[in-house]
Amino acid sequence: TTWRVSARDVALATGRRVIVTFEDVTAVEEAGTIRRDFVANVSHELRSPLTALLGFVETLRGPARDDAAARERFLGIILREAQRMARLVDDLLSLSRVEAEERRRPTERVDLRALAASVAATLEPVAAQSGAEIRLNLPDQAPTILGDSGQLRQVLTNLVENAIKYGGRSGPVEVALTGPAEQPGLRRQGVRLSVTDRGPGIAAHHIPRLTERFYRVDTHRSREVGGTGLGLAIVKHIVSRHRGRLRIESEIGRGSTFSVILPAD
Ligand code: ADP
Repeated sequence: TTWRVSARDVALATGRRVIVTFEDVTAVEEAGTIRRDFVANVSHELRSPLTALLGFVETLRGPARDDAAARERFLGIILREAQRMARLVDDLLSLSRVEAEERRRPTERVDLRALAASVAATLEPVAAQSGAEIRLNLPDQAPTILGDSGQLRQVLTNLVENAIKYGGRSGPVEVALTGPAEQPGLRRQGVRLSVTDRGPGIAAHHIPRLTERFYRVDTHRSREVGGTGLGLAIVKHIVSRHRGRLRIESEIGRGSTFSVILPAD
């Protein structure tokens, strides 16, 4: 615990007195540390593609100037690194927007069936490119929920993209929606949206940390597939704004299921 101690000298009729106040500022200190860590992480994440960009531009102006093949290759790398920076900045903006809105209750009527079908259709070409397949498992009917359709679209998009990136080659990616009637075990009635892959799975000790900003199980793999390390942090904030829960189940060698359970009203 961190204490902020302050003393005040007061003059009273009976004489002078010193009043010492102790204030528990642990939470404030922690918030400061988290913010500093975050800024350091962001700087580092931006610095590495930037270093690559600068290096390759220098090479293009110098040694590689007259080598057409090298030029082509280096331009490819420059494009990739610039795209990585753009993705990172986009995710940072999403994260800050989502955080800013976290306390505002969403008020739209959202049809999760239509949303799931639309996200699956949008990501079909991405899946095909990685040799993956998306399977939809939707009930005939599902209640609408109170939500923010743009944000819920982002949640599902992030989860399906991860399933494709990390597990899409080992089997189909399944997107399923389960209505409230099918989950009698839940305390509150909830709708469950889940994304299952047959990928490598995630070791149990990583699972609680996955929604931390920039936390990755395998940094190299994440970079290779174009990850920013922010996708699940964004998911967590959006789900929390919707008073929902994110559940992650995974088994090494078998795959993972990421479920979002949203209150049905
Ligand atoms: P990233 O941009 O790196 O994908 P995320 O926040 O979306 O960042 O995910 C954090 C980490 O969680 C990833 O780097 C990856 O290691 C792990 N992860 C996420 N989804 C899956 C999945 N479906 N299968 C295996 N690992 C996953």
